[in-house]
Amino acid sequence: MNFELTTEQKQLQDSAREMSRRDIEPILKHHDPDKPLPKEAMLEIFAFLARMGLLAPRLPEEHGGAGLKMLDYGLIFEQLPPVVAIALLAQDVTISRIFAESSEEQRERLLPSLVDGTRICCTGTTEPDAGSNPREVRTRAVEDADGFVVTGRKMWISNAAICDVINITCIDGVDEKGRGRIRRLVVDSAESAFTTAEIPCLGLRQGHLGEVLFEGCRVPKRNALGASGDAARVLTLTWNANRPLVGLSAVNMAQKAFDAALGYAGTRKQFGKLIGGHQLVQSRLAEIDAQITTSRLLCYAALDAIDQGHRANGSSAMAKRYSTTACERAITEAMQLHGAMGVARETGLEQLYRDVRMLPIPDGANNILELIQGRELTGLDAFR
Ligand SMILES: Cc1cc2nc3c(=O)[nH]c(=O)nc-3n(C[C@H](O)[C@H](O)[C@H](O)COP(=O)(O)OP(=O)(O)OC[C@H]3O[C@@H](n4cnc5c(N)ncnc54)[C@H](O)[C@@H]3O)c2cc1C
Repeated sequence: MNFELTTEQKQLQDSAREMSRRDIEPILKHHDPDKPLPKEAMLEIFAFLARMGLLAPRLPEEHGGAGLKMLDYGLIFEQLPPVVAIALLAQDVTISRIFAESSEEQRERLLPSLVDGTRICCTGTTEPDAGSNPREVRTRAVEDADGFVVTGRKMWISNAAICDVINITCIDGVDEKGRGRIRRLVVDSAESAFTTAEIPCLGLRQGHLGEVLFEGCRVPKRNALGASGDAARVLTLTWNANRPLVGLSAVNMAQKAFDAALGYAGTRKQFGKLIGGHQLVQSRLAEIDAQITTSRLLCYAALDAIDQGHRANGSSAMAKRYSTTACERAITEAMQLHGAMGVARETGLEQLYRDVRMLPIPDGANNILELIQGRELTGLDAFR
């Protein structure tokens, strides 16, 4: 086992860090930190990400993707500003899922403008009454001679209000067990009408989390996706790989908070000495460091397991649950080490505190991830 990154991996990290500092952060700083970025700004950011092949990191090179290993993608992902990383994840995952379930004709028609970042996409599964159990979706697609008529509402969709294309999960009837029969459709705003609205949230405020309303929205037949080849396997892998990636965004935030706390402990004096010289302050710093290191390693290990061909259901669930919880705690403790300065806007810690709180929910809320890990451990399914 070798914990040292290769020269190439260090270079990937360095270029992602440099791109974030030089190209992306100035765009974020130029806009209101509490408002969703204008679409043009996100397109500008996506253009930088596309140049590094990051909008389709999981697609094979022969299909226009970067063909990255998941661990290498994770190393890059960790360096991106979290609000951008979450928008990127929505784009990347949507591209990967469309790719996994589409025909050659659909790939050629739908994917190029998403891969080059000139159009924005998202995945719409969650609904007002269907969250942790996506089998309960109620958005309905009724087929007629011309295509599908879609009616329903999607909630909490990343990139919704700025998307050109949304890959939705809906039902088109019932199966033999009386359950909704799942169908996935690509809805393109250039040919189908739907409305979107932002949902104001606690954190990641420059991002876009929104709802989408379909009221008799017409979708052409050619946009219906169908599971082909090893689509089911690809979908599971996509899902499993998202979790440690989200975990690494939490690590990004906690690392920033830790660096700030370490710096503060080395300059702030109380009781006649640097606060970093007090034993209890050192104890807290050591604990934050341990939380971040453990989180990072769990996420890397889960991504590496996926690269080795494992499904990594349990390890990816554990990585996301552990790291989002531990990093949230680490940020709170780093704030506390700043005293009142920790809650002042100028230190940036209150934003990290709000932003990290968004992450234990998408791609499996933490209870659900615990049950997935529990199922792997016991072989017993607590969901049924
Ligand atoms: C930042 C962010 C980005 C998102 N992006 C997207 C996106 O791009 N596309 C999309 O489709 N959705 C997205 N979502 C939605 C997200 O996937 C759902 O919010 C999530 O699946 C949980 O669903 P819910 O909010 O309806 O909670 P619910 O499913 O109603 O759960 C409520 C609570 O009950 C718990 N719970 C539920 N069932 C069980 C059980 N069996 N045992 C124990 N506890 C249980 C949950 O853990 C949770 O704590 C996003 C959400 C956020 C916050």
